[in-house]
Amino acid sequence: MSQAQLMDGAGLARRIVEETAKRAAGLKDRTGMAPCLATVLVGEDPASVTYVRMKQNRCRKAGIESRHVALPAGTTTAELVDTLTALSADPTVHGILLQHPVGPHIDERAAFEAIAPDKDVDGVTLSSYSAMSFGLPGFVSCTPGGIMRLLDEYDVDPAGKRAVVVGRSAILGKPVGMLLLGRDATVTYCHSRTTDLSSVVREADIVVAAVGRPRLIRGEDIKPGAVVIDAGYNEGNVGNVDFDTAVTRAGLITPVPGGVGPMTIAVLLEQTVTGAERQVGV
Ligand code: NAP
Repeated sequence: MSQAQLMDGAGLARRIVEETAKRAAGLKDRTGMAPCLATVLVGEDPASVTYVRMKQNRCRKAGIESRHVALPAGTTTAELVDTLTALSADPTVHGILLQHPVGPHIDERAAFEAIAPDKDVDGVTLSSYSAMSFGLPGFVSCTPGGIMRLLDEYDVDPAGKRAVVVGRSAILGKPVGMLLLGRDATVTYCHSRTTDLSSVVREADIVVAAVGRPRLIRGEDIKPGAVVIDAGYNEGNVGNVDFDTAVTRAGLITPVPGGVGPMTIAVLLEQTVTGAERQVGV
């Protein structure tokens, strides 16, 4: 039985972060100012605390300063908007990351929109989404951006290919579909109301699983030789694709962990340095 080639996101992410660290050091040498990412967290959800800490650690290792703003769980939308507006206006901050989810009492969209587009290194504003969809310069959502980098690294040209994106969230499914469309793939979105998901997935040359359901995409639904990108992460290192069956049908496949996951932070760091370079004007 044939085995797909693994797409080594961990290795590619490491190379992107090394290159990013060199650019961060260069910026500091030239201007005396290191790039700075502000992280904003509302409340103390343990998973969110861990994610933010991980991002701060990676920043430090890459020579990017991080400034953390911890807000109490009861923070109102207006208070959060004020915080993000102040960070947007602060010339010593080059990128802003609002850790989400922010809690049901907050208007998340209003909060995201308080982030200045030139500091939206997580690619969450309407402005970033439209620029990305129109193929204009701007910051992309980090996970979709990381997925496209992985495809490029393995010489997968989406042009003319049938791409099926399973999931349509604002941070993952929708934007990755738009990026694939921008690269001339024929894109189909699937979601919880899709009927006969299997038959749609079977058509795909490129499958992106961004669905949040463990092992939903089964090997028997993978077209032989297809490229399988598993963006999902569930407890126990389980993705949204049934890896053991898919690996015998796919041509290329991302492992979980070590596939898409590490690419997300790498793109976040890279976009922070790009933001700093643009804002400082070097
Ligand atoms: P989400 O907001 O929960 O969206 C899930 C999407 O899947 C929705 O569009 C939903 O459809 C669709 N869906 C749910 N059940 C389905 C089913 N049975 N058949 C077809 N579609 C179905 O999730 P997300 O934030 O996009 O995350 C998706 C996965 O990616 C999760 O496993 C998450 O852990 C992972 N993730 C990884 C990274 C990373 O850095 N690697 C970053 C973000 C997320 P409806 O729209 O109809 O509800």
